[in-house]
Amino acid sequence: MTQTQAPVRGGQFLTSAARPDEVFIREDLTDEQRLFGQTAAEFMQKEVLPVVQRLYEHDWTLTRRLLKRAADLDLLRLEVPPAYGGLGLDLISASYVGEQIAINPSFGGSLGAHTSIGTLPLVYFGNDEQKARYLPRLSTGELVAAYALTETQSGSDALAARTAATLTPDGRHYLLNGQKMWITNGGFADLFTIFAKVDGEKFTAFLVERGMGVVSGRDETKLGLDGSSTTALTLDNVKVPVENVLGTIGQGHRVAFNILNLGRVKLGARNMSGVRMALNHSVKYARERRQFGKAIAEFGLIKQKLAGMAIRGFVGDAMSYRTLGDVDRALDSGDRADGPLVLKTIEGFSVECSINKVWTSEALAWAVDEGVQVFGGNGYSREFPLERMYRDARITRIYEGTNEINRMLVPTRLLKQQPHLFTAERARAALAAQSPVPSPQSPLSAKAGSPQSLLSAEREYVARLKRLAIALLGHASATYGDGLKEEQEVLARIADIVIETYATESALARAEKMAARGDGRASLATDIAQAYTNEAADRVAVATRQVVAALNTRGADPSFGAGVWRLTAHAGVDGIAALRRIANAVIEAGKYPL
Ligand SMILES: Cc1cc2nc3c(=O)[nH]c(=O)nc-3n(C[C@H](O)[C@H](O)[C@H](O)COP(=O)(O)OP(=O)(O)OC[C@H]3O[C@@H](n4cnc5c(N)ncnc54)[C@H](O)[C@@H]3O)c2cc1C
Repeated sequence: MTQTQAPVRGGQFLTSAARPDEVFIREDLTDEQRLFGQTAAEFMQKEVLPVVQRLYEHDWTLTRRLLKRAADLDLLRLEVPPAYGGLGLDLISASYVGEQIAINPSFGGSLGAHTSIGTLPLVYFGNDEQKARYLPRLSTGELVAAYALTETQSGSDALAARTAATLTPDGRHYLLNGQKMWITNGGFADLFTIFAKVDGEKFTAFLVERGMGVVSGRDETKLGLDGSSTTALTLDNVKVPVENVLGTIGQGHRVAFNILNLGRVKLGARNMSGVRMALNHSVKYARERRQFGKAIAEFGLIKQKLAGMAIRGFVGDAMSYRTLGDVDRALDSGDRADGPLVLKTIEGFSVECSINKVWTSEALAWAVDEGVQVFGGNGYSREFPLERMYRDARITRIYEGTNEINRMLVPTRLLKQQPHLFTAERARAALAAQSPVPSPQSPLSAKAGSPQSLLSAEREYVARLKRLAIALLGHASATYGDGLKEEQEVLARIADIVIETYATESALARAEKMAARGDGRASLATDIAQAYTNEAADRVAVATRQVVAALNTRGADPSFGAGVWRLTAHAGVDGIAALRRIANAVIEAGKYPL
């Protein structure tokens, strides 16, 4: 990226085309960013992976010791401001480190809960005194942090929390009473961000030290993440000084939801780490395992799985680093030490954060599931790696806001952010034949035969997809009015179309950028971008058909459906041949080839 680029604003991707030279891609990581990643990768390989069995047996003293070691390597202070003992690094650096730590999702969960949802509420909402009191000790691993929002009766509906905070008669403390559920690091954390309602209604965040009276339940027996502590917390007259109110009384929702936005986009990069691992294990096994006299990697249906994993790894990285790059650039145009400004900027990207969360967690689910299949019976065995990966991956569709909730957030936030864009008039204009197709206006040349020109049909298709998304959401909004929020099935399908739009465009921009700089893997990237566009087009066509049918049943203008089909058409490439080429590149490399 160049310094002169104007920052992209969140939620704008439906109305402007992503120029490849403006999009941050994983290949753009600087030497400094790679160095932090390398430190984290070596730490995981040398110090964590050799002892993970003890983590699976709940040796939380070891978890704490490993967190302290991570702190010695600066890995707990990346996002803490320099004034409080941190490095104040960008989101890309933090996410790239997160990617390396995620090679063990259990320890990754412990470290991530500490550095992200545990520490960042304080970074962004704490006052100077609170930051000075806690951040230096969180950076050195002396204190371990946790974030306690969920309760037995309130999960997705977080604001329905029942935990109560009552001011003592002398006005110096709040007494917290209630129970929290599913708290990562719950068994051993020292400092908790706990959400409770003051006077039964004002939802508020508190900084609570374990010594103030927090009692942990037993470790939950879980499907996966065996090596991370997840417990309930019991709060029985926990006495919290008034100085430990975090942010403003009654504004706890801002703390809760903004921190989740940040978590969602960083989770994207971590999920892709899982996809790459699933592929690496799968291709190694497929090259060695022989059936019918040959390696199973030679069978077309196994190749299809390997190619699918490589495609997901490439597209997911393209999406998450694009968003991270856009957010970092927007943050660089302001003051990173200005907590409220940082949060407002990130909140502007909430649609992209939800898109990344949904797409990457479902890509990971697909990859580990197909990975189990590549291993056959051995995939089902604890003696082989895919079994644990399959179990560990499942949580990523549930936490940081379930995928149902995030799917609903995509169209509802778009409607809120840009109400003028999703009207009946704009829907009609988006369908009109003469309506201009946005093009990337790229300064990159598109010579005949170059990857940019090879991808021109895909670019043109993505431009139509944007019009389709605007048309469908605008038309649905006009048809259902205020009742649209009750039409979750329609909203989810529109969300899927928006998500495919972002995913496809990100993949195209990454492939074009690689081609423009003469990257030796550009033709593979082009194959991947084309193969993904093919698949996305099939899914978009199904979702569109269902939305149009639902709108027609509600008496929408029948000419609408006819106009829509023009937007979904995509001839595409020979997808079967493309998948074979991609799989062959994976098999030849013996690992994820990008
Ligand atoms: C391993 C693990 C670690 C966790 N770590 C933490 C942590 O550190 N801190 C913390 O506070 N929480 C944590 N959680 C809790 C997690 O964030 C919640 O489980 C999650 O938010 C879902 O809430 P719930 O379990 O109550 O499910 P519910 O909200 O009851 O949802 C059940 C189902 O209903 C769906 N649903 C709910 N509302 C709607 C709606 N409006 N529209 C459509 N569908 C809907 C959901 O998508 C889901 O499919 C963790 C959970 C696990 C399993």
